[in-house]
Amino acid sequence: MKSLDYHARDQDVIVVGAGHAGCEAALASARLGLSTLVLTISLENTALMPCNPAIGGPAKGHLVREIAALGGEMGRVADVTKLQARLLNTGKGPAVQALRVQSDKRAYQAEMRRVLETTPGLHLKQAMVEEVLVEGGRVRGVRTSSGIVYGGKAVILTTGVYLNSRVIVGDATFDSGPNGLMTSRGLSASLERLGLELGRFKTGTPPRIDRDSIDFSALVEQPGAERPYCFSYLSGGPVGDREQLPCWLTYTNERTHAIIRENLHRAPLYTGVIKGAGPRYCPSIEDKVVRFVDKLRHQIFIEPEGRDTREMYVLGFSTSLPEDVQLEALRTVRGLERAEIMRPGYAIEYDYLVPTQLKRTLETKAIEDLYTAGQINGTSGYEEAAAQGLVAGANAALKIKGRPLLVLGRSEAYAGVLIDDLVTKGTNEPYRMLTARSEFRLLLRQDNADLRLTHKGRAVGLVSDRQYEAFLAKEKAIEAEKRRLEETVIMPDGRVQAFLAVRGSAELRAPAAVADLLRRPELDYEALAAIDPGRPELSREVTDEVEVQMKYAGYIAKQVAQVERMRLLEERRLPAELDYGRVYGLSNEARQKLAARRPETVGQAGRISGVSPADLSLLLVFLEAEKRGGSGRRKGGAGGRDGG
Ligand SMILES: Cc1cc2nc3c(=O)[nH]c(=O)nc-3n(C[C@H](O)[C@H](O)[C@H](O)COP(=O)(O)OP(=O)(O)OC[C@H]3O[C@@H](n4cnc5c(N)ncnc54)[C@H](O)[C@@H]3O)c2cc1C
Repeated sequence: MKSLDYHARDQDVIVVGAGHAGCEAALASARLGLSTLVLTISLENTALMPCNPAIGGPAKGHLVREIAALGGEMGRVADVTKLQARLLNTGKGPAVQALRVQSDKRAYQAEMRRVLETTPGLHLKQAMVEEVLVEGGRVRGVRTSSGIVYGGKAVILTTGVYLNSRVIVGDATFDSGPNGLMTSRGLSASLERLGLELGRFKTGTPPRIDRDSIDFSALVEQPGAERPYCFSYLSGGPVGDREQLPCWLTYTNERTHAIIRENLHRAPLYTGVIKGAGPRYCPSIEDKVVRFVDKLRHQIFIEPEGRDTREMYVLGFSTSLPEDVQLEALRTVRGLERAEIMRPGYAIEYDYLVPTQLKRTLETKAIEDLYTAGQINGTSGYEEAAAQGLVAGANAALKIKGRPLLVLGRSEAYAGVLIDDLVTKGTNEPYRMLTARSEFRLLLRQDNADLRLTHKGRAVGLVSDRQYEAFLAKEKAIEAEKRRLEETVIMPDGRVQAFLAVRGSAELRAPAAVADLLRRPELDYEALAAIDPGRPELSREVTDEVEVQMKYAGYIAKQVAQVERMRLLEERRLPAELDYGRVYGLSNEARQKLAARRPETVGQAGRISGVSPADLSLLLVFLEAEKRGGSGRRKGGAGGRDGG
């Protein structure tokens, strides 16, 4: 394999793309001690946020906390470059509460690039990769558009929305990546030549308008939270806590909707110009107007893109309508009557890799040591991409080092739910993480991501000493405080009764542990300080965790029992070469699907649509029989239940 002298030294891991997946993948691989080369179309666009200037929110905030707990970088960078932080859903239960920060896009990029460029063993280079090189079913390296060949023991593709991407604004379409960047040519064809199946998706973004063209007096200010929230466990205390910038709320109205309806004949989404499937959970404004006819108005949030720019992001107005229609419609919105567009909204179509071709390590089943992560796998979102990047980067490195691989279970992490859904069920639209996708929401809270994953991140080798020591201290403090609350007894004296009465809480008839009072819904940890004078000084992170664990103990225990019941199926591995034709009684649909998807465990098999519980029991019977050395097949041949 010919390579230029100064590139003579082959790399261990080659990461294609420096987006959110590529950055985490490269850092994981380099931090595990492997020489890592990142090849990306434009260095200036490292960690670009081509869409909303925000990190986190429901389910996405959970992912960022999980990345931080596993030793990843997104959370820390988001903390130090935030414009504003808010904890969402505080009126709801802990399972759906989630941190969301407004990010200074340029500062985010600069900080992430600084981290990449100062990480030992990590090299960044500008290049367009056009071909993946494979020999004997195993990846060998890549070739760039300038004909350079780089050898690597593993290749991780994190090419996002760039594969054969096409931008659409009204009836204008052009081959381009986001923000006018080059589209990625050649690589899709190379993957198809290797026998990998690709699909086509679409996503869209709203216009950016000039801050000085907005009448803020007509908008509702959305300030940040007073409390200094952060994602990362390394960001102790108020980090990057410069003055928070507000966001602003306004609404579309009937006139906005009328202009959009009158121009649907020029809307690429409705003229058939756009073919790719778009994200249901991020609908364009034209989609919202068409689908929710009865809604008289839709929320619009105006968000700053950074401290040093006048660009404002118009959340809720994603569109690919012609630019003149975008402007006309925007100017009907209260506060935006004189809006000036700095960047028009647009849609982008791109190729993605059908994710059922992947293992839960994100290695492709067909080509050894070739991994894919991020939007290329059919997801949508910076956070979803970063979580996959960390898993793919860690596994590429761990496999080269011959160490146990990083597989996250559905009961351990949203990142586990995300990857399992992708590789087991696939997706027919850009997949966005939602808390509703998890059957164990109460276990996968954002407040306990570190308790769920830090030990695992440490075992993999990604969690630093500093983070681990801080974590062990927190873990210990939580257990100690829970014990103290159970052992501290409150006597039913006058002061206590008065305290309870004021809070509409039942009087105490006998001495009780503080923990018992804490379990009363109307009482919380902070309030109980008045009758629990001996408590130690603890951080909010610790006391919040103690409160959640104690107040939801019953529900949590139920979910833990559910996980236990599932664990046996989840751990029951399926031989990679199993001949499903030999499993007696399976339905034809199940037989075909299982043979095509090759699930790794019985639990995973059970989640493939078309595989019924009956099929699963037959499979278990077969596996038992195989174990006993017999065969699961009854005399007279395989035969499906439906006789086929
Ligand atoms: C218009 C638009 C709208 C979006 N809307 C939303 C939304 O509403 N909600 C949401 O959650 N997410 C949205 N996103 C998605 C979000 O931006 C992505 O999910 C996220 O950036 C994906 O991260 P990634 O790392 O997979 O890929 P990207 O961030 O796209 O990064 C890919 C990287 O790969 C590089 N690259 C690509 N091909 C090659 C090649 N051949 N050789 C070398 N380098 C290459 C690129 O230069 C880039 O650095 C939108 C994105 C766009 C563009």
